[in-house]
Amino acid sequence: MKGYRIAVLPGDGIGPEIVREAVKVLGVVAERTGVRFDLHEGLVGGGAYDRFGTPLPDETMQLALASDAVLLGAVGGPKWESLDYSVRPERGLLGLRSGLGLYANLRPVVVFEDLIDASPLKPDVVRGIDLMIVRELLGDAYFGKPRGVRIENGRRIGINTMVYTEEEIRRIAKTAFDLAQTRRKKLLSVDKANVLEMTELWRDVVTEVGRDYPEVELRHMYVDNCAMQLIRNPGQFDVIVTTNMFGDILSDEASMLTGSLGMLPSASLGAKTAMYEPSHGSAPDIAGKGVANPLATILSVAMMFRHSFDRTAEADQVEKAVRMVLKEGFRTEDIRQAGAVIVGTAEMGDLVVERLRAFPA
Ligand code: NAD
Repeated sequence: MKGYRIAVLPGDGIGPEIVREAVKVLGVVAERTGVRFDLHEGLVGGGAYDRFGTPLPDETMQLALASDAVLLGAVGGPKWESLDYSVRPERGLLGLRSGLGLYANLRPVVVFEDLIDASPLKPDVVRGIDLMIVRELLGDAYFGKPRGVRIENGRRIGINTMVYTEEEIRRIAKTAFDLAQTRRKKLLSVDKANVLEMTELWRDVVTEVGRDYPEVELRHMYVDNCAMQLIRNPGQFDVIVTTNMFGDILSDEASMLTGSLGMLPSASLGAKTAMYEPSHGSAPDIAGKGVANPLATILSVAMMFRHSFDRTAEADQVEKAVRMVLKEGFRTEDIRQAGAVIVGTAEMGDLVVERLRAFPA
């Protein structure tokens, strides 16, 4: 039976608490399937800085590169906020993303029926939402040159450059079409092709790639309209693919449709090793109290099964177990509802594991 090597990087704040619960889930799936998961822990973020003077020690990067997948908790906290930018905990994350060549960030936005009241929008607007934002991660104004602030003719001028090569667009478009093919076969590409030439190329290349996917329905939308439609009628979307900057903004907007930050997983895919992490941060305000919601991290493990190990059945089972626990009325503090049973981080993890164990083999 094939085994997988997983780099486990708990990080800072609530990171170690939530990752512990996700590791329990890996354990029970291993028991049930006979698949071997070799877990290797590493340091990243503030903890790594304290020990080695860098948020991404070489040893951690090597561990990630030699693994089939990376499971990350979260990094950062007030203790490290006054450090120089070059050694801040978040630099560790950026280093991992570029070191692993992670060009596609996948953020699913799923509204669980039992948590529908947590959404700031009306239940009728968000009921049944199940969309996926695919954000390009390695290009656009975030990396384009020239960049910077300089003095010209005696006044300050700030410059950033939006840039994509056609290969970069083709690669992310393929990822998005492949995903759409496994879902409801609808892909929306978001650009600003009425104003920005760079996104005119984006639109052309996505359309070209689409010719290889005749069964996927492709639509294009300007980013301003998409921002509006995400609030007006989010149920129309299946997979949305977009540039780094538009994706940065739209994925945060879309995540708020659910109203529950502790429930949102994410995946970043590249050529080989992918990275899985919750969408939220290290929540220093509740770290060490045993109350953090581990479900986003557990759902990130489900994404790992689906996208890195091609084990859809196990991914479905983990997601189903999470739904069952919610349906039975168990909640962590952040998703508290009237009449619910409030449980801590470890208890929530145990509940998911118990449900998983109870499924027929
Ligand atoms: P945050 O996501 O850590 O927390 C925002 C709020 O949501 C807090 O009140 C927190 O208690 C709550 N929350 C978040 N996750 C939760 C969970 N699983 N269960 C229960 N409640 C949860 O964002 P922030 O406060 O802006 O940032 C805190 C630190 O995290 C900062 O140092 C920031 O740089 C870092 N950060 C890291 C990542 C990452 O590692 N990917 C992402 C965002 C922020």
